[in-house]
Amino acid sequence: MARQYDVIIVGGGITGASLLYTLSNYSDVKKVLLLEKYDKIGGLNTSSRNNAQTLHYGDIETNYTLEKAKSTKEAAMKVLRYTSSLEKKGREKIISKCQKMVLAVGDEEIERIENTYSLIKESFPALKKIGKTEIGRLEPNIVRKRDKGDNIKALYSGTGYMVDFERLSNSFVENTKRTREKQYRVRLSTRVTGVTKSGGIYKVSSTAGEFFARFVVFAAGTYSLYFAKSLGYDKNLSILSIGGGFYYTPRVLRGKVYRVQKGGIPFAAIHGDPDITNPNINRFGPTVTVPLELEKGHIETMPDYIRSFDFDMPTAVSVKRILLNEDVKRILARNAVYGLPFIGKSSFLKNEASVIVPSLKYGDLTLSNDGGIRPQIIDEEKKALVLGEGKINHDEAIFNITPSPGATSCLVGALEDTIRITEHLGREFYEDKYRLELGEVSTGLHYHLR
Ligand SMILES: Cc1cc2nc3c(=O)[nH]c(=O)nc-3n(C[C@H](O)[C@H](O)[C@H](O)COP(=O)(O)OP(=O)(O)OC[C@H]3O[C@@H](n4cnc5c(N)ncnc54)[C@H](O)[C@@H]3O)c2cc1C
Repeated sequence: MARQYDVIIVGGGITGASLLYTLSNYSDVKKVLLLEKYDKIGGLNTSSRNNAQTLHYGDIETNYTLEKAKSTKEAAMKVLRYTSSLEKKGREKIISKCQKMVLAVGDEEIERIENTYSLIKESFPALKKIGKTEIGRLEPNIVRKRDKGDNIKALYSGTGYMVDFERLSNSFVENTKRTREKQYRVRLSTRVTGVTKSGGIYKVSSTAGEFFARFVVFAAGTYSLYFAKSLGYDKNLSILSIGGGFYYTPRVLRGKVYRVQKGGIPFAAIHGDPDITNPNINRFGPTVTVPLELEKGHIETMPDYIRSFDFDMPTAVSVKRILLNEDVKRILARNAVYGLPFIGKSSFLKNEASVIVPSLKYGDLTLSNDGGIRPQIIDEEKKALVLGEGKINHDEAIFNITPSPGATSCLVGALEDTIRITEHLGREFYEDKYRLELGEVSTGLHYHLR
């Protein structure tokens, strides 16, 4: 009995932690176990070192559709509602307000942001279109030493946020409601090694033995599809691991400065950000690489990547189509050199960092080992990359695949999972309490692959 649960969650990043919190506070599900293979919560892609710390809001992300922009805003609002209920002292380390803009350099990019602005301005009334003088007032180092002939414009909002998603995940676990009746357990340093289903019950094998549950949720990031495939599901889906790294500089920017991304590319162009954990630096990134692994720098995850990729003819055709896209080719070719010694830093400075801050010098940049992997989903029917987060639902199992903005959308993802779990287990979802505390019962942000 001690090893039997209503729900087992595999993975203690922000997806698993927010689900633990949501189930405990907004449902009457009684026994839940979260298994995390590392010795802390939020230590992998959710770590503040490994992502861009942006609470995405949909207004400066030029690669989003209007629909995606609006649903991302609703997801961000949930994080804001949750964090506003925390005590000020702890909250400031989790979330911090900063200005933000998307900078357009040159006529083509300016036309793109003009179009974006017309499309989204009604949904984002705080967003302003600003010219060079105003940019110089708000972010002096964007204009200082810039070529006189450079034509620049920006979309700006004074209300952006940087988030330490690792601390936010830990706050979810700390605020998980536990009573004598409600057993919500977290086991760290416990790696799940396999899962099978028999007689309506899932057996989850791990380095700490076997556990049983009526419902399983894989919140294992890059590994979720691997486990779906091990159960025989979704042979026709794949993910492309998109690695992302960062260069650090002294503090030269006040807020977040995003760049224009070409439509159809599902990840952000390289941008400059402050760091919530260190007010004296800026981070420029994430760079884009295509490592054959499921965890950055962990070569031993390569066989698992190959197994979850499940290479067949439709996958080959999809990958070929994706990699032949002119924008993807351009981005990959440029980024391929950014990690190399000497030449990497100088080309990153020329192509990326100095386009944002022209006065930056070679010696100002330091390549860090930080960064993670965005598991971009390949839709083999459309032969294209999916824009953002995905969910696979199979009876009493959910598999969450979470590229950016998966940390921002954690509470919407957790809401969807909570509704599905309570429906399947015949339990109650506390809808009124949810509305009161976290807002709309909004679903549909995640791409449902099943
Ligand atoms: C470079 C980069 C920049 C990004 N920038 C942003 C941003 O600015 N804003 C934003 O919203 N999102 C951003 N993202 C995306 C965001 O970081 C992720 O969507 C989010 O962290 C995913 O959380 P997760 O819990 O699903 O996955 P993870 O954080 O990867 O957690 C999965 C957990 O599962 C565990 N696990 C895996 N396998 C097992 C197993 N077998 N047994 C037990 N445990 C297991 C892992 O150890 C890990 O802790 C970025 C991502 C990257 C890589």
